[in-house]
Amino acid sequence: MSDKLSLVLNCGSSSLKFVIINPLLEKRYLYGNVEYLGPNKISINWYDYLNNKKKIKHIIKISYKKTINFIFNNILKKNILFNKIKVIAHRIVHGGYEATKSSLIDNKIIKSIKSAILFAPLHNPSHLLGIYESMKICPHLSKKNVAVFDTSFHRTMPKKSYLYGLPYKLYKNYGIRRYGAHGISYQYIVYKTSKIFNKKISKLKIIACHLGNGSSVAAINNGKIIDTSMGLTPSEGLLMGTRSGDIDINIIFFLYECLGISIKNIKNLINKQSGILGLTENNNDFRYIESKYNKNKKSKIALDIFCHRLSKYIGGYITLIDKYLDAIVFTGGIGQNSALMRKLSIKNFSLLNIAIDNDFNNKIINNKIGFINKKNTLPILVLPTDEELMIAKEGINLV
Ligand code: ADP
Repeated sequence: MSDKLSLVLNCGSSSLKFVIINPLLEKRYLYGNVEYLGPNKISINWYDYLNNKKKIKHIIKISYKKTINFIFNNILKKNILFNKIKVIAHRIVHGGYEATKSSLIDNKIIKSIKSAILFAPLHNPSHLLGIYESMKICPHLSKKNVAVFDTSFHRTMPKKSYLYGLPYKLYKNYGIRRYGAHGISYQYIVYKTSKIFNKKISKLKIIACHLGNGSSVAAINNGKIIDTSMGLTPSEGLLMGTRSGDIDINIIFFLYECLGISIKNIKNLINKQSGILGLTENNNDFRYIESKYNKNKKSKIALDIFCHRLSKYIGGYITLIDKYLDAIVFTGGIGQNSALMRKLSIKNFSLLNIAIDNDFNNKIINNKIGFINKKNTLPILVLPTDEELMIAKEGINLV
């Protein structure tokens, strides 16, 4: 089975994760990530499962390209399993309208990732760097690099969900439509939930909430996406760490025409200075607003808005599922850990026979897996996501 080893590279906009994994055994041998500790310092953390060893290396901040090289030369190549790796699978946030499914990376796929930079300007350039460097550092695997797209899972979204109420030619000529995000995480949630319920994926009906620094909700009917809260870019939908989520688009014209704020600064304001950070005026971390919920008015209102919007999306999405819903599933850093958020978001659903058991809810934190619903009500599952496993599975299937 060691012949099925995959290297997964998740080169994000401000994060970088790397994993050596056997996707068939669902076994990790190495997991690492890069943390940015300030303007001049990064820390590379990795866990070697074979030797049960955790390692941390603090280094002076270097370019993204050099960081990838550092990881290959100083960590991956020194791992005894490195030569057994059969595929390098890359997580790609946006495939645009051309790349619709996981694919071996060739010039055509690179072109699609490049053309989708417009829709994921923070992520796709880092993904491309990850691909170029991997091909350069591991020429023997240059034809075994695979792109796994977050947007693939959403490709079956019906037109009535993905079209905006804009002139049709904007969709036809420029691909302006809703693409969704967190697709790989949702794919994992569907895969794992179907196992837990012992139900075929094609029969599974769930509302999945991926709540992290970026947050979204997905309505999944018979294993397929029917609607999701993120749109053309990951700015639409829920309140997020630094993104506003849904706003009246005329606010943009007010900021531009009445306050004279430049388009570049409005973009920055909506994506990087809004959400929880904008409302608290000092912090985007959910742990912060949760710990200050009863002590600080701004934290309380930020958390209340987050839950209020989430309730609206969950309630709305339940109406899109035909017949009986199997479960509501929470995942992502916030979904897996914030019992308060789960309690407040679900509190008004008792009419639909959906209710949280406070004891279970308070126990399922710290990335544990478990049900948190009251007896004889709709299952509510907390399920840690595993995007890397899903990426590796797609990768090994392709080679
Ligand atoms: P990303 O979108 O960057 O992948 P994550 O899924 O890792 O994000 O989630 C990050 C978010 O999860 C942060 O807002 C963080 O505060 C929140 N979070 C992490 N641990 C906890 C916790 N124990 N309680 C509440 N929120 C948490």
